[in-house]
Amino acid sequence: MNLELTEETRMLVDTVTRFVRDRLRPLEAEVDLADGIEPQRMQALRREACALGLYGYNMPESIGGPGLSLQTLAAIDEAIGHTSMPLGEVFGHLPGSLRFSNEAQCRWLVDPLLRADTSIGYALTEPGAGSDLSAIATRAVRVAGGWRLNGTKHFISNVEHADHILVLAATDTAAPLKSKLSTFIIERGNPGLALLRKFRKMGWHGYPLSAFSLDDCFVPDSHVLGQPGEGFRIMMATINNDRVYVASKCLGMAQALMDLVLPWARERTTFGQKLGQHQAIQFYLADCDIELNAARLLTQQAAALGDAGHPDFRIAASRAKLYASEMLGRVADRVLQVFGGAGYMTDLPVERIYRDARAFRIGEGTSEMQRIQIARHLLAE
Ligand SMILES: Cc1cc2nc3c(=O)[nH]c(=O)nc-3n(C[C@H](O)[C@H](O)[C@H](O)COP(=O)(O)OP(=O)(O)OC[C@H]3O[C@@H](n4cnc5c(N)ncnc54)[C@H](O)[C@@H]3O)c2cc1C
Repeated sequence: MNLELTEETRMLVDTVTRFVRDRLRPLEAEVDLADGIEPQRMQALRREACALGLYGYNMPESIGGPGLSLQTLAAIDEAIGHTSMPLGEVFGHLPGSLRFSNEAQCRWLVDPLLRADTSIGYALTEPGAGSDLSAIATRAVRVAGGWRLNGTKHFISNVEHADHILVLAATDTAAPLKSKLSTFIIERGNPGLALLRKFRKMGWHGYPLSAFSLDDCFVPDSHVLGQPGEGFRIMMATINNDRVYVASKCLGMAQALMDLVLPWARERTTFGQKLGQHQAIQFYLADCDIELNAARLLTQQAAALGDAGHPDFRIAASRAKLYASEMLGRVADRVLQVFGGAGYMTDLPVERIYRDARAFRIGEGTSEMQRIQIARHLLAE
């Protein structure tokens, strides 16, 4: 496995790093406190990312994206991880499922997304179905010219202002999971779509999670992504990339914490010594460093296997997602401890990252789901 970044990747990462440092990090505390960012301001930042050629950076060439390798994406996502979740959205990490858009959908759906003219959310989770997608109760019934959907989705990211939502619904309730679900593209303003509520939550302030209902919501045939019955396959086709994405974001957040704590440990004095000279503190820092590097290696390995089309990509992506998200929790806890009371106050971003870290063990497949996958892989004949 070659760990050296190519010249092109290094240049992209440098551009992202500068944008994060100069344009996004100064806004983090304000966005966190307000639990939001004005749509116009967000749009202006998206336009800046567009002008730098970064917007929609994870899209494949087949639908008009840059077609970057997973290894390059992992490096970029680590750089984006140095800022908060809502501000990281400025770079337009779009749902991987969009690669299944047909010619016409590319024109009316994907092209405006890639220009940052519109935005999109992806809705799988329901009050009765999260880890267990076979329990999805949203139903889509065939009618003349399309489908009629009924159901409720919740905990869905960024649909508050989204122009489109990709919705997973059951089209054949008697079929096995792999052919039971279909993906529908629902437009904002559809009279059958109603936003129910926005959740108050522990972290990711400024990154809205909402619930919505579909009540006899008509969706024309032109708004089915892929073929009917392909919803599960479409989701599974990109889930490993999404897990590498989450792992990479966790690396960036953990590295941001290390960048804060090392100068602090060098400079602060207690009992006549620099904090970093106390052995207990050294052990905290060493453990953070080892685990961060281990998580980075697992992530790079998963990305390399993904780029090579290797069958072990799936399990490697699970390992990376699981380990990196849990590593981030441990690093955030130790770093906050090394800062003492200052770590608990909102003057520094440490407490925000501590809060933000927790969600990564839940989204894109919980830690338990990753462990189940890994164990099944180990035990398979
Ligand atoms: C910040 C954030 C953003 C999100 N964004 C989106 C989004 O954009 N779109 C979307 O569709 N969803 C989104 N979600 C929802 C997320 O995908 C689900 O919360 C997640 O899949 C878990 O589902 P659940 O909450 O229903 O938990 P459940 O499935 O009810 O599980 C509850 C707990 O039990 C464990 N568990 C369940 N079954 C087993 C088992 N067989 N063995 C052992 N343990 C088990 C789980 O791991 C979990 O710890 C988001 C969630 C968060 C926190």
